[in-house]
Parts: sequence; C-alpha cells; structure tokens
Amino acid sequence: MPTFVDPSKCDGCKGGEKTACMYICPNDLMILDPEAMKAYNQEPDACWECYSCVKICPQGAITARPYADFAPMGGTCIPMRSGADIMWTVKFRSGNVKRFKFPIRTTPEGSIKPYEGLPEGDSLDSELLFTEKALATPKEALGKKFDVQEADKTFMTKERGV
Ligand code: SF4
Ligand code: SF4
Repeated sequence: MPTFVDPSKCDGCKGGEKTACMYICPNDLMILDPEAMKAYNQEPDACWECYSCVKICPQGAITARPYADFAPMGGTCIPMRSGADIMWTVKFRSGNVKRFKFPIRTTPEGSIKPYEGLPEGDSLDSELLFTEKALATPKEALGKKFDVQEADKTFMTKERGV
C-alpha cells in the first residue's frame, strides 16, 4: 500500500514553498494541492514505501502499510519523531493499537570519526570486500592504488575458479 495523507491532519506544512514530504520523497511523488493546501501522493503505484515522508511529516499525517515483519496485512503505522527517538504507533485490523519506541541512533552525535573501523593490512584485498565500491576510497586514503582489473581477476580465480 502506498502512502496515504490524512487531510484532517495535514496542514500543508503551513504554506511553505516546498513541503517536508515533497522535499524528502526520493521519487518526487508527494505534491501539494495549492487550493486545499493538503499534500497527496500523485502516483501511488510508483511509491517505494520507503517511509521517508512518513517519518518526516511533522503532523504525523502520512500513513503507509507496515512492513510484514512487525505487523500483519491491513494494519497502519505512524512513526512520530522526536529529537532522540521514533515512537511507532501500529494499528491492527482488529483495532488493537501498539506503540514502541526506538532511539534514532545508538551512538552520541558526532562520536563517529571518519575512517573509523577502516580495514587494515591486506584485508582490503579480500574477495569478501571486493564488491564494496566505497572501499576504493579508504584504500586510496591508505596511499595504495586500487586496481579494479586485478581485483576482478583475483575474485574470479578465488571464487569462481576461472
Ligand atoms: Fe502535509 Fe505532512 Fe506533507 Fe507537511 S509533510 S504537507 S503536514 S503531509
Ligand atoms: Fe515517496 Fe517514500 Fe513517501 Fe513513497 S514512502 S511517497 S516513495 S517518500
């Protein structure tokens, strides 16, 4: 089920030029009806159910189908963000409501240093890390040249026996 905007809750982000849901949607699906000043999903079939708009809406006006790993079919789910947590409200078809709260992050803001946890030594040459494109950057940071063709050859030899 794609997103659905509850018009009784949506305030059009108080008339801003671009609403929060329009700003965040990676697929440009959310749009504001300028007369009613309410947002809606202009192409529901293309919705990825990524929850970005659902999470960012300051009014909790957008709902989407909850993922099957925490609610059965037919339920609705509304997350409300605070500075530190997201409170999830799940409403089941039976009418039961459950709420659970998760911290937005588990480490203090600003505590993660760039390149912290960088693989050391030859571990960058492991075929297990081969497909991690981002590793080319830390490798360059270590002053080594990342040879894609060589890595490809190593991978094919070790993994595929070619
Ligand atoms: Fe309405 Fe929420 Fe979208 Fe703002 S973010 S326009 S309140 S649905
Ligand atoms: Fe866009 Fe994701 Fe919201 Fe769907 S759930 S309308 S793809 S932001």
